[in-house]
Amino acid sequence: MVKGSYNPYENAQAQFDRVAEMIGLDDATRQLLRQPMKEYHFTIPVRMDDGSTRIFNGYRIQHNTARGPAKGGIRFHPQETVDTVRALAMWMTWKCAVVDIPLGGGKGGVICDPRNLTESEQERLCRGYVRQLAKDVGPFIDVPAPDVMTNAKHMLWMLDEYETIYGARYPGFITGKPVGMGGSLGRTEATGYGVVYTLREALKEMGIKPENTSASIQGFGNVGQYAAKLYTELGGTVVAVCCWDNNDNKPYTYYKESGLDIEALKEMTDSFGGIDKDKARDLGCQIEPAGAWLEKDVDILIPAALENQINMDNVDKISEQVKIIAEGANGPVNKEADEVIRNRGIFVIPDFLANAGGVTCSYFEQVQSNTNYYWEKDEVLEKLDIKMTSAFKAVSELARNNNLYMRDAAYIISINRVAQAVKMRGWV
Ligand code: GLU
Repeated sequence: MVKGSYNPYENAQAQFDRVAEMIGLDDATRQLLRQPMKEYHFTIPVRMDDGSTRIFNGYRIQHNTARGPAKGGIRFHPQETVDTVRALAMWMTWKCAVVDIPLGGGKGGVICDPRNLTESEQERLCRGYVRQLAKDVGPFIDVPAPDVMTNAKHMLWMLDEYETIYGARYPGFITGKPVGMGGSLGRTEATGYGVVYTLREALKEMGIKPENTSASIQGFGNVGQYAAKLYTELGGTVVAVCCWDNNDNKPYTYYKESGLDIEALKEMTDSFGGIDKDKARDLGCQIEPAGAWLEKDVDILIPAALENQINMDNVDKISEQVKIIAEGANGPVNKEADEVIRNRGIFVIPDFLANAGGVTCSYFEQVQSNTNYYWEKDEVLEKLDIKMTSAFKAVSELARNNNLYMRDAAYIISINRVAQAVKMRGWV
């Protein structure tokens, strides 16, 4: 689905340049913020179960640390590229700034397909990744977390390797840890729930009741599943979900006009967001081509898979009925399609605002790990809701008062905060 010519880094820079121009950002700050501060590119030799050795390529990119240590996930993906990681690191800086948490932006990636690796191979890959980076990451430098195709189990292997190297316990090295092992309750739900907190606020501002709306979701991994769950709990109807089928090794759209049974679908999903389409058919789902999720007559679209999923090939297929796009994924809309969406007047909750719930909860996890005192789940989610709601309101108020596109308004807030930090530190 990802087109060869698409470059997420160019997309991220174009978004930044547009707003830097709009707010008259000085040249030095512009040069500093439109590229990462530091990059690590390295090889990871991994002993495979059959005795052979495979060499994987890994990256960690620290975009900006003016507001705090770099923060961001590590992705495992067969099509990972250094430019994707650069873009994602940059978006993390804006993400932490828009929710006003004291962290910078970073991201990591490994070119691999964990679906084809055994548990022990995945463990050795995680440990190898940390060995190559141990001196350049840490609680006060750069704090990793889960992302596409990585989870709490991977985080704990990485933490264990880091702590083995340094000979002490450093729970603040990584977030997204398992509950009971330094993790925070609510971290698993946080990104998807955060998307829906912002969506709920958007609907409120539009005077629309969630129970009168329907949604279509692309991706049924950690973000898609919990977004679907909370949205359904608010009364909304998810009519379509696009996700991976483990038999054919390709994605399909699962459609049910009266609404999908999210709990049942979630139950049959594996840890990488893949399902078995024959079982889904038994639930009364119609199996349609992958692209169908975007064409449904729904009020809300939630792209919660990968970048560049809405582009010039399909943007015109978005139904007239769609009022809101809540971007659960990072960079799901490319630059040209974004212009079409902006001109159509669809209300966009931009990625680094909509999906900031994950990193916000990671920040809560750090606070809990540092004080060695863990909060109840309700307390975590309540704090998360407050942070997400106030960030959403600040962005939507700026957009409304100045007749701005939501993405631009979010960028204005974030860039101003980061620019102020680099200036106060005397970097520019
Ligand atoms: N990977 C998530 C994101 O893209 C969470 C990052 C974090 O918790 O540090 O926002």
